[in-house]
Amino acid sequence: MSQEDSALPLADGIILMGRYGPFSCGAWILHHNGECALLETPQRRENESPAGDIKKFVEERGWRVKYVLLSHHHIDHMGSIDQYKDLFPEARFLTHRAIAELAENLRLHMSLFRRRPFPTVNPEKWKNGLFTDVFDEEVRETDIGGEPISIVYAPKHSLGDTLIHFRGVVFTGDWWLFEGDPQWCGLAGALAAHSVTRVMKYVHDKNIRVHAIFSTHADQLMQAVNFKDVMKRTLDYHLALPKRDERLPDCSSCPSCSLSRVFWRTRAALAGS
Ligand SMILES: [Zn+2]
Ligand SMILES: [Zn+2]
Repeated sequence: MSQEDSALPLADGIILMGRYGPFSCGAWILHHNGECALLETPQRRENESPAGDIKKFVEERGWRVKYVLLSHHHIDHMGSIDQYKDLFPEARFLTHRAIAELAENLRLHMSLFRRRPFPTVNPEKWKNGLFTDVFDEEVRETDIGGEPISIVYAPKHSLGDTLIHFRGVVFTGDWWLFEGDPQWCGLAGALAAHSVTRVMKYVHDKNIRVHAIFSTHADQLMQAVNFKDVMKRTLDYHLALPKRDERLPDCSSCPSCSLSRVFWRTRAALAGS
Protein backbone atom coordinates (compact mmCIF):
# COMPACT_ATOMS: atom_id res chain seq x y z
CA MET A 1 0.00 0.00 0.00
CA SER A 2 1.39 3.39 -0.90
CA GLN A 3 1.33 6.31 1.52
CA GLU A 4 -1.15 7.95 -0.83
CA ASP A 5 -3.59 5.13 -0.08
CA SER A 6 -3.02 5.39 3.62
CA ALA A 7 -3.73 9.12 3.88
CA LEU A 8 -6.81 9.37 6.06
CA PRO A 9 -9.23 12.30 5.90
CA LEU A 10 -10.48 12.39 9.50
CA ALA A 11 -12.49 15.61 9.44
CA ASP A 12 -13.17 18.51 7.05
CA GLY A 13 -9.79 19.92 6.09
CA ILE A 14 -7.85 17.45 8.20
CA ILE A 15 -5.78 14.57 6.85
CA LEU A 16 -3.65 12.08 8.73
CA MET A 17 -0.86 11.28 6.28
CA GLY A 18 0.35 8.39 8.40
CA ARG A 19 2.01 7.40 11.66
CA TYR A 20 5.77 7.25 11.70
CA GLY A 21 8.76 6.22 13.75
CA PRO A 22 9.16 3.93 16.75
CA PHE A 23 6.50 5.83 18.71
CA SER A 24 3.95 6.11 15.87
CA CYS A 25 3.56 9.86 15.84
CA GLY A 26 1.07 11.21 13.30
CA ALA A 27 2.03 13.50 10.41
CA TRP A 28 -0.95 15.78 9.71
CA ILE A 29 -2.12 18.09 6.94
CA LEU A 30 -4.57 20.87 7.83
CA HIS A 31 -5.84 22.46 4.64
CA HIS A 32 -8.21 25.06 3.25
CA ASN A 33 -8.49 26.86 -0.12
CA GLY A 34 -5.31 25.37 -1.52
CA GLU A 35 -3.21 26.27 1.48
CA CYS A 36 -2.07 24.03 4.32
CA ALA A 37 -0.25 23.67 7.59
CA LEU A 38 1.71 20.54 8.45
CA LEU A 39 1.39 19.45 12.04
CA GLU A 40 4.24 17.45 13.66
CA THR A 41 7.50 16.42 12.01
CA PRO A 42 7.63 12.83 13.29
CA GLN A 43 10.68 10.82 14.05
CA ARG A 44 11.08 8.26 11.27
CA ARG A 45 12.49 4.85 10.66
CA GLU A 46 15.10 4.52 7.95
CA ASN A 47 12.62 3.44 5.29
CA GLU A 48 10.10 6.17 6.18
CA SER A 49 9.72 9.73 4.97
CA PRO A 50 6.75 11.64 6.38
CA ALA A 51 7.95 14.87 4.74
CA GLY A 52 8.46 13.09 1.39
CA ASP A 53 5.02 11.46 1.53
CA ILE A 54 3.40 14.80 2.32
CA LYS A 55 5.33 16.66 -0.35
CA LYS A 56 4.09 14.28 -3.02
CA PHE A 57 0.54 14.45 -1.67
CA VAL A 58 0.31 18.26 -1.55
CA GLU A 59 2.10 18.78 -4.86
CA GLU A 60 -0.38 16.51 -6.64
CA ARG A 61 -3.12 18.76 -5.34
CA GLY A 62 -1.30 22.03 -5.91
CA TRP A 63 -1.51 23.03 -2.26
CA ARG A 64 0.87 25.59 -0.80
CA VAL A 65 2.47 24.76 2.54
CA LYS A 66 2.19 27.89 4.66
CA TYR A 67 3.20 26.58 8.09
CA VAL A 68 4.95 23.72 9.82
CA LEU A 69 3.69 23.39 13.42
CA LEU A 70 4.54 21.20 16.40
CA SER A 71 2.42 20.22 19.38
CA HIS A 72 5.59 20.05 21.52
CA HIS A 73 9.33 19.47 21.41
CA HIS A 74 9.62 15.72 22.16
CA ILE A 75 11.75 13.78 19.72
CA ASP A 76 8.94 11.55 18.43
CA HIS A 77 7.21 14.76 17.27
CA MET A 78 10.17 16.59 15.78
CA GLY A 79 12.68 13.93 14.77
CA SER A 80 12.39 14.72 11.06
CA ILE A 81 12.18 18.51 11.27
CA ASP A 82 15.38 18.73 9.23
CA GLN A 83 13.75 16.87 6.35
CA TYR A 84 10.69 19.14 6.50
CA LYS A 85 13.07 22.08 6.36
CA ASP A 86 14.71 20.65 3.24
CA LEU A 87 11.49 19.78 1.43
CA PHE A 88 9.45 22.84 2.43
CA PRO A 89 11.97 25.69 2.38
CA GLU A 90 9.24 28.30 1.82
CA ALA A 91 7.13 27.27 4.82
CA ARG A 92 7.09 29.26 8.05
CA PHE A 93 8.15 27.13 11.01
CA LEU A 94 5.86 28.70 13.59
CA THR A 95 5.99 27.89 17.28
CA HIS A 96 5.74 29.17 20.85
CA ARG A 97 8.91 30.42 22.57
CA ALA A 98 8.84 27.49 25.02
CA ILE A 99 8.98 24.90 22.22
CA ALA A 100 11.69 26.83 20.42
CA GLU A 101 13.85 26.94 23.56
CA LEU A 102 13.22 23.37 24.65
CA ALA A 103 13.79 22.01 21.17
CA GLU A 104 17.07 23.85 20.87
CA ASN A 105 18.08 22.59 24.30
CA LEU A 106 17.17 19.05 23.38
CA ARG A 107 19.16 19.34 20.17
CA LEU A 108 22.23 20.59 22.06
CA HIS A 109 21.84 17.99 24.76
CA MET A 110 21.55 15.14 22.28
CA SER A 111 24.53 16.25 20.26
CA LEU A 112 26.75 17.07 23.25
CA PHE A 113 26.03 14.21 25.60
CA ARG A 114 24.83 11.37 23.46
CA ARG A 115 27.19 12.15 20.61
CA ARG A 116 24.26 11.64 18.35
CA PRO A 117 23.16 14.46 16.08
CA PHE A 118 19.62 15.64 16.57
CA PRO A 119 17.84 15.66 14.33
CA THR A 120 20.37 14.85 11.62
CA VAL A 121 21.61 18.30 12.24
CA ASN A 122 23.46 20.41 9.82
CA PRO A 123 24.48 23.35 12.04
CA GLU A 124 24.79 25.64 9.00
CA LYS A 125 21.18 24.97 8.09
CA TRP A 126 19.97 25.75 11.58
CA LYS A 127 22.22 28.63 12.45
CA ASN A 128 19.24 30.93 12.90
CA GLY A 129 17.39 28.37 15.04
CA LEU A 130 14.98 25.61 14.20
CA PHE A 131 12.01 27.96 13.73
CA THR A 132 11.36 30.98 11.54
CA ASP A 133 8.49 32.47 13.60
CA VAL A 134 8.54 32.31 17.39
CA PHE A 135 5.76 33.89 19.46
CA ASP A 136 5.59 34.76 23.16
CA GLU A 137 1.88 35.31 23.71
CA GLU A 138 -0.38 32.59 25.16
CA VAL A 139 -2.42 32.30 21.97
CA ARG A 140 -1.38 32.90 18.37
CA GLU A 141 -4.18 33.25 15.85
CA THR A 142 -3.55 33.11 12.15
CA ASP A 143 -5.19 31.46 9.13
CA ILE A 144 -4.83 28.83 6.45
CA GLY A 145 -6.41 29.91 3.19
CA GLY A 146 -8.56 32.35 5.17
CA GLU A 147 -9.72 29.73 7.69
CA PRO A 148 -8.72 30.58 11.29
CA ILE A 149 -6.21 28.42 13.07
CA SER A 150 -5.07 29.03 16.63
CA ILE A 151 -2.21 27.77 18.74
CA VAL A 152 -2.63 27.86 22.51
CA TYR A 153 0.34 27.45 24.84
CA ALA A 154 -0.82 24.99 27.48
CA PRO A 155 1.88 22.92 29.27
CA LYS A 156 0.52 19.73 30.82
CA HIS A 157 2.24 16.71 29.25
CA SER A 158 5.45 18.74 28.75
CA LEU A 159 6.64 22.29 29.34
CA GLY A 160 6.40 22.91 25.62
CA ASP A 161 2.79 21.85 24.94
CA THR A 162 0.63 23.77 22.51
CA LEU A 163 -2.91 22.82 21.53
CA ILE A 164 -4.04 23.61 18.01
CA HIS A 165 -7.57 24.48 16.95
CA PHE A 166 -8.69 24.24 13.32
CA ARG A 167 -12.23 23.90 11.97
CA GLY A 168 -13.75 22.67 15.21
CA VAL A 169 -11.01 20.13 15.89
CA VAL A 170 -8.66 20.54 18.84
CA PHE A 171 -5.34 18.71 18.61
CA THR A 172 -4.22 17.85 22.11
CA GLY A 173 -0.69 16.62 21.29
CA ASP A 174 0.31 14.14 23.98
CA TRP A 175 -2.10 15.45 26.63
CA TRP A 176 -3.56 12.73 28.84
CA LEU A 177 -7.28 13.41 29.05
CA PHE A 178 -9.67 12.57 31.88
CA GLU A 179 -8.29 10.95 35.05
CA GLY A 180 -4.95 9.34 35.81
CA ASP A 181 -2.49 11.56 33.95
CA PRO A 182 0.87 9.81 34.57
CA GLN A 183 2.60 13.18 34.01
CA TRP A 184 5.66 11.62 32.43
CA CYS A 185 7.51 14.92 32.51
CA GLY A 186 6.63 15.55 36.15
CA LEU A 187 4.80 18.82 35.62
CA ALA A 188 2.92 20.06 38.65
CA GLY A 189 -0.81 19.53 38.91
CA ALA A 190 -1.35 23.26 39.37
CA LEU A 191 0.40 24.03 36.11
CA ALA A 192 -1.65 21.40 34.27
CA ALA A 193 -4.87 22.76 35.81
CA HIS A 194 -3.88 26.26 34.76
CA SER A 195 -3.37 25.09 31.17
CA VAL A 196 -6.69 23.21 31.00
CA THR A 197 -8.42 26.33 32.30
CA ARG A 198 -6.70 28.48 29.68
CA VAL A 199 -7.86 26.24 26.85
CA MET A 200 -11.43 26.08 28.21
CA LYS A 201 -11.55 29.85 28.57
CA TYR A 202 -10.20 30.42 25.07
CA VAL A 203 -12.74 28.09 23.48
CA HIS A 204 -15.54 29.65 25.55
CA ASP A 205 -14.55 33.29 24.93
CA LYS A 206 -14.21 32.73 21.19
CA ASN A 207 -17.42 30.75 21.08
CA ILE A 208 -15.69 27.92 19.23
CA ARG A 209 -17.83 24.85 18.58
CA VAL A 210 -15.39 21.99 19.09
CA HIS A 211 -16.70 18.74 17.57
CA ALA A 212 -13.56 16.59 17.78
CA ILE A 213 -10.47 16.08 19.90
CA PHE A 214 -7.50 14.36 18.27
CA SER A 215 -4.26 13.33 19.93
CA THR A 216 -1.45 13.88 17.45
CA HIS A 217 -0.38 10.22 17.73
CA ALA A 218 -3.93 9.54 16.46
CA ASP A 219 -4.42 6.99 19.22
CA GLN A 220 -7.26 9.06 20.65
CA LEU A 221 -9.74 10.31 18.06
CA MET A 222 -12.90 11.57 19.71
CA GLN A 223 -15.69 12.66 17.38
CA ALA A 224 -18.95 14.40 18.29
CA VAL A 225 -17.29 15.23 21.55
CA ASN A 226 -18.57 17.30 24.43
CA PHE A 227 -15.47 19.43 24.73
CA LYS A 228 -16.45 21.17 27.94
CA ASP A 229 -17.12 17.87 29.72
CA VAL A 230 -13.83 16.34 28.63
CA MET A 231 -11.89 19.39 29.80
CA LYS A 232 -13.88 19.69 33.04
CA ARG A 233 -13.16 16.07 34.00
CA THR A 234 -9.49 16.55 33.14
CA LEU A 235 -9.37 19.75 35.17
CA ASP A 236 -11.09 18.16 38.17
CA TYR A 237 -8.52 15.37 38.18
CA HIS A 238 -5.63 17.82 38.41
CA LEU A 239 -7.36 19.99 40.99
CA ALA A 240 -7.87 16.95 43.22
CA LEU A 241 -4.18 16.01 43.24
CA PRO A 242 -2.41 16.15 46.62
CA LYS A 243 -1.09 19.52 47.76
CA ARG A 244 2.54 18.55 47.33
CA ASP A 245 1.91 18.62 43.62
CA GLU A 246 0.56 22.09 43.74
CA ARG A 247 3.26 24.49 42.77
CA LEU A 248 6.45 23.71 40.98
CA PRO A 249 7.08 21.77 37.82
CA ASP A 250 9.66 19.10 38.47
CA CYS A 251 11.56 18.62 35.26
CA SER A 252 14.80 18.34 37.16
CA SER A 253 15.25 14.72 36.13
CA CYS A 254 15.29 15.77 32.49
CA PRO A 255 18.51 17.53 31.48
CA SER A 256 16.96 19.05 28.41
CA CYS A 257 14.22 20.77 30.42
CA SER A 258 15.98 21.53 33.71
CA LEU A 259 18.73 23.41 31.90
CA SER A 260 16.30 25.53 29.93
CA ARG A 261 15.24 29.10 30.61
CA VAL A 262 11.58 28.20 30.17
CA PHE A 263 11.85 25.78 33.12
CA TRP A 264 13.26 28.42 35.48
CA ARG A 265 10.84 31.07 34.24
CA THR A 266 7.88 28.77 34.84
CA ARG A 267 9.14 27.88 38.30
CA ALA A 268 9.56 31.53 39.19
CA ALA A 269 6.13 32.46 37.83
CA LEU A 270 4.42 29.67 39.77
CA ALA A 271 6.32 30.39 42.97
CA GLY A 272 5.23 34.02 42.76
CA SER A 273 1.60 33.31 42.00
ZN1 LIG B 1 5.53 13.96 24.27
ZN1 LIG C 1 4.52 11.73 21.66
